[in-house]
Amino acid sequence: MIEIKNIRKSYQMGETTVHVLNGISLQIERGDFVAIMGPSGSGKSTLMHILGLLDIPTEGSYLLNGREVSTLSEDELAVIRREEIGFIFQQFNLLSRIEAWKNVSLPLLYSADGYNLERGRELLTQVGLADRIDHKSNELSGGQQQRVAIARSLVNNPAIIFADEPTGNLDSKSEKEIIEILHRLNDQGITVIIVTHEDSIAQQAKRLIRLRDGVVQSDERQRPLEQTNIPLGPGKPARPPKLPWKEIIEHLHQGFQTLAANKIRSSLSMLGILIGVAAVVGMLALGAGAQKSIEKQLSSLGSNLLVLRAGNVRVGGVVTQESSRIRLSMEDVMAVKNQVVGIRDVSPSSTGRAQVTYLDKNWNTTILGVTPSFAKIRASEPIYGRFFSDDENRKRALVAVVGITVVRELFGNKSPIGEMIKINKVNFRVVGVLPEKGTAGPQDQDDRIVVPVSTAMYRLFGRNYVDSVDVEVARAEDIPAVQDSILEVMNGRYRVPLSAQGDAFQIFNMADIQKAVDASSKTMALLLSSIAAISLVVGGIGIMNIMLVSVTERTKEIGLRKAVGARRRDILMQFLAESIVVSVCGGVLGILFGVGFSVLMAKLLGWTVVISSASVLISFGFSALVGIVFGSYPAQKASKLHPIEALRYE
Ligand code: ADP
Ligand code: MG
Repeated sequence: MIEIKNIRKSYQMGETTVHVLNGISLQIERGDFVAIMGPSGSGKSTLMHILGLLDIPTEGSYLLNGREVSTLSEDELAVIRREEIGFIFQQFNLLSRIEAWKNVSLPLLYSADGYNLERGRELLTQVGLADRIDHKSNELSGGQQQRVAIARSLVNNPAIIFADEPTGNLDSKSEKEIIEILHRLNDQGITVIIVTHEDSIAQQAKRLIRLRDGVVQSDERQRPLEQTNIPLGPGKPARPPKLPWKEIIEHLHQGFQTLAANKIRSSLSMLGILIGVAAVVGMLALGAGAQKSIEKQLSSLGSNLLVLRAGNVRVGGVVTQESSRIRLSMEDVMAVKNQVVGIRDVSPSSTGRAQVTYLDKNWNTTILGVTPSFAKIRASEPIYGRFFSDDENRKRALVAVVGITVVRELFGNKSPIGEMIKINKVNFRVVGVLPEKGTAGPQDQDDRIVVPVSTAMYRLFGRNYVDSVDVEVARAEDIPAVQDSILEVMNGRYRVPLSAQGDAFQIFNMADIQKAVDASSKTMALLLSSIAAISLVVGGIGIMNIMLVSVTERTKEIGLRKAVGARRRDILMQFLAESIVVSVCGGVLGILFGVGFSVLMAKLLGWTVVISSASVLISFGFSALVGIVFGSYPAQKASKLHPIEALRYE
């Protein structure tokens, strides 16, 4: 079943070439029990690795069951290794973190439907370890470990077993047991090829081959080879071409275990992703909240609203006494209202801050002096009580309409209507409560008191000017024309020179503000996505780093997995699963932190936050993507390791 011709193997060591095998030709029949002996360094292990398809010869041909294997790809070799060959190493090579039965059925992870407890139990019973099924390898003696390794080599019903000094690390009692097991297997028809230093073992073999300096020195048959009539084996059914779910789940499970085993290291490597995702989720929530409250505010204003303010230009002509800056007067307001065509209503406002007291309670808030038109233009009809009248405005009456926040701070649960409050030590009667407006970013729109504009100007602030004028245009299509004629009237009143006419007055139009908001939210989105991209890349590099360490640390494990039949993509999948576990865990924690942070901001600062499921899903998706992208290089690296070189890695 094995036929090699003129096999040579040499290693390039810097300048010199080391010739290890110098033309070996052999034929080994089915059912034989072959012992290979030879001094240390004579090439026994090298020959075994080549025969066991773990290594490829530099030269020569190798027919296994009539098939030339030197031309096969790495993955094809892996499949033959796990379907037809069992390999037993001197160092046992068990995975120390998993139980004996899982070690035994490890090759099934790649060839069948995953670990198999029943098969593990059956084989461990065969090698006399029925009571050690659940033990990890560091809880087993050397002899027991080697028996687990033998059970593992049998799990796929191999036709040949290679054993490279299987008893080299064992006491003589264990040695005897191991050799007995191998003979029993040989009696069942399995071909056994064993490397040994023990004459006693060699004498029991059916055939003894001695190697020296990479050539066959002697080859003698010690016992006749009975013709076994065991068929070649049924040939295993090809694995159905579906996704190997059990294997993927096992890899994910393993990823979590590795994560749990290296808590500090894993959490540090998650930190980048965690911070990135938390920042993205938190900022998206705050951004969306700000956007929503601005939109709400804008929509409550109506799109036909213009706001007129004096600009920052000093001009000659009619100016107020206290500075040469233009100040809007009540006369200006009336002039605009009366001279400009197409205006439905105007509402001047004069703003300032003041200390407000009610009984023993104190509160500092915004005072807004307006005319009764404010209630309609700014959608602020009181929810309780009434607004003040034009008559009260004319008489500079001491009446106030209060916002919800002010009510809460000063009155608690009590109704404020009809109560007397002091604003800057002046007594006001509360006549109404404003409707709730919510927050605009950090600004609480309900923390204000509205009073008649003339009262505010002359009795509270001692001014004869207003800060701004809201103008409601009758028809939307007239807005540009109304805007132009307001400017014309105002520039005329103050005789603004032509050169300064662009800057002397500002008119905000809601459509422009809407556009500005849209533009700034686009900038915000761009900023957020660059922060997200940077932090995810940084997080990804952290994960790549840790995965490279993990691959290096587990080189031996990778070698073993490949030796028992893992293909490149099995190893690739294993390490990808692990990096995805790390990045997704980081991502999930990041989402939790981000949501927690936003909720905290909402609670503490009263900001509006909107946590959309889309932002959570996107963050989740991105963290998984980062795991795949940044895990793929380490995983590739792992999958390309050479089985024997990896096994030899210290
Ligand atoms: P044995 O198992 O008979 O003791 P080996 O087959 O392990 O011997 O090794 C035979 C020779 O090949 C040794 O001299 C060893 O130094 C050399 N050798 C084995 N592997 C390598 C390698 N990867 N690179 C260089 N030399 C190697
Ligand atoms: Mg050796």
